[in-house]
This record gives sequence, C-alpha cells and structure tokens, in this order.
Amino acid sequence: MNSFEAFKDPALCRALLERLQKEADTPYRFMEVCGTHTVSIFQSGLRSLLPQTITHVTGPGCPVCVTHESEVACFLDLATRDDIVLATFGDLMRVPGPKGKNLKTAQADGARVEVVYSPVDALAVAAANPGRTTIFLGVGFETTAPAVAATIRLAREQNLKNFRVLSFHKLVPPALAALVADPDINIDAFILPGHVSAIIGAAPYGFLAEKHGLPAVVTGFEPLDILSALLEITAMRASGRPAVVNAYTRVVAHDGNPVARAVMDEVFIPVDALWRGLGVLPGSGLDIREEFADFDALRLPGVSLPDVPPLAGCRCGEVLKGKRAPNECPLFDKACTPATPVGPCMVSTEGGCAAYHKYRLEL
Ligand code: SF4
Repeated sequence: MNSFEAFKDPALCRALLERLQKEADTPYRFMEVCGTHTVSIFQSGLRSLLPQTITHVTGPGCPVCVTHESEVACFLDLATRDDIVLATFGDLMRVPGPKGKNLKTAQADGARVEVVYSPVDALAVAAANPGRTTIFLGVGFETTAPAVAATIRLAREQNLKNFRVLSFHKLVPPALAALVADPDINIDAFILPGHVSAIIGAAPYGFLAEKHGLPAVVTGFEPLDILSALLEITAMRASGRPAVVNAYTRVVAHDGNPVARAVMDEVFIPVDALWRGLGVLPGSGLDIREEFADFDALRLPGVSLPDVPPLAGCRCGEVLKGKRAPNECPLFDKACTPATPVGPCMVSTEGGCAAYHKYRLEL
C-alpha cells in the first residue's frame, strides 16, 4: 500500500467511524466549503455512514456555481461578437444564462469558443487568431487565480496584443465571513478547502474561531482526511476550545504558497464582487491591476455586467448557502437534471445538485 492509498484504508476508516460514533454525542452541522470535498463525501459513501448526530451541509465551494447570473450573461454576450474568441475551461460550457442560452448553444449559433485545459493554452488560441481578441474566462477561486496571473504576465512578455482575461475570480475567506454573519445559516463547524488553502494557507480563516467561536479544519480529500477532520471538530466542540486546525500539512503550509500569492498580488487587486445567491461581498473578487489594464477584458468597449434576474425557479442561491438541500428544490430531478440543467449547481461536476443526483441512492 502506498502512502496515497493509506488515506483510503478501509480498516482505518472503520476504526475512525467507530470512534466518531462514540465521541460525536453532541449534534452539529458541518459545512464543507469545497466542491471537491462534496463529491468525495458522496463518492466514498461517507455521507450515509456518518453518525446521526452529524449533519452534512454543502457549501459555496464550486466556482462555476457561484459565478453570478450577470457574469454568465456578460460572457454569453461576448460570445456573440465577431471580433472575439472565447477560451474557457469546459465546465462553463453548459452553465445556463438568460433564455436558456449557454456557451454550447452560442457555439452552435456560430460563436467562436475554444475549450482549453490551462490558461496558458489560451495564449496559443490568441496566437492562432491574430484578427480577433481572445478572451480567457477567469472563473475560479484562489486555486486558479495564480495560474491566470502568471498567464497574463507571460502574455506581456510575449507582447501578445490580442489576449485578455475576463476576471470573475472569487476569494473564499470573504464568502465564509458573509455566511457566518447570516443569522439563518446555523453552521457549527467547517471543513476548509485543501486546494485553496494550499495557496493562501490556514491563517486567513482564523476569524472563524476567534470571532465566531467555530471549529474549522483544513483537510484533504480522502476518506481518512475527512473522518479525521470530523473527529478533530468533535473534540474541539467537546473541549469548548474552537480553533482553525491545519490537518493537511502534507500539502498546506500555514502561510500557503508565497510564490503563487506573489504573482496573484502582482496582477490582481481585491475588489467587491457579485456571487450567485450571496450578492455583493466586500473584497471577495479579483480585478486586474491598472498596470495590466491592456489584458483586462472588462475594459474593452461595450463590456459590462448586465442586470439579470435569478433563473426562474432555481434555488442554487439557497443551496450554496446551505439553507436548502439540493433535493429540497422543487425542480430537482424533475425539470432539472444533468441532461436538462436549470441551474449551474446541476451542471458542474463539483455542484451540490449534481452530486445529489449522481449519488441519490445514498440520500
Ligand atoms: S435542482 Fe436545479 S434548479 Fe434546483 S437548485 Fe439545483 S440546479 Fe438550481
């Protein structure tokens, strides 16, 4: 057994689950912030094995899902322009916008949309389309932003004049601050995202324990990681000493990755940003700095965020805040399925609704 497989070891999982059954005698609701954790909790079968005292709530940790309706409308609008090529990760292709349009339907209508696997690939798209401006759709959390920032720096080094980024990046700690400030949320503890934390470290989450008295654990994505985090939370609740614990030290340093943070800070500046379901959150987005304005798609003439109402009937906003389970949405598995998604939470592989649909036998 290699060290990676050890984090899935069934005997160890059983032992931790038995401990959790004994020790989790006070009920609590925990939210995992990251969509990868959501999928892992379902995929490993943990959700159905947790003690009755522990309630699992999905959170806002899917970047595609938290992209606001107005931001979706903005890039769908760009897709209609003859002078633009959009470069995007594939997970945005089916996200519904106004009137049921998405990038796939736009492509069928003649829009030039290229799916790329890394932001750097978008530079090749720009080089291959000299008569048009290639715009990379910058959707993601702190995990994605450093690579996009490095790509903008590279575009400058290559003197590429027809490459820009539409920066809709979001920052996780301000979203958590907004969630815990909401009196209707009722979350008692957090499992914090491993990938985002690899960039920012554990320190930015300190306010959860210090200001709100909530235990929180940065952890990995294997069953043993998640069970260990829940045991840690259980112990903190029993002792009455909440803290932010980094249990993912094999990947996450306390202060994160200084090189990634430096390139992110060089190119981006924090700004207030729109989140689906959460509204405008102070300091929760990243704009491109003035020094890199030539690479900012939001500064192109005619580009703006239109006022767009929420998708009719879709409860993604409440799902993202943990106020409603996906299967409590009246459209779940009726009008809204992965084949006919009404909202982004049913489209994205990290979306709560898609996870509930895929693993529904475990509900
Ligand atoms: S089931 Fe569909 S419509 Fe309902 S919240 Fe989820 S994505 Fe939105």
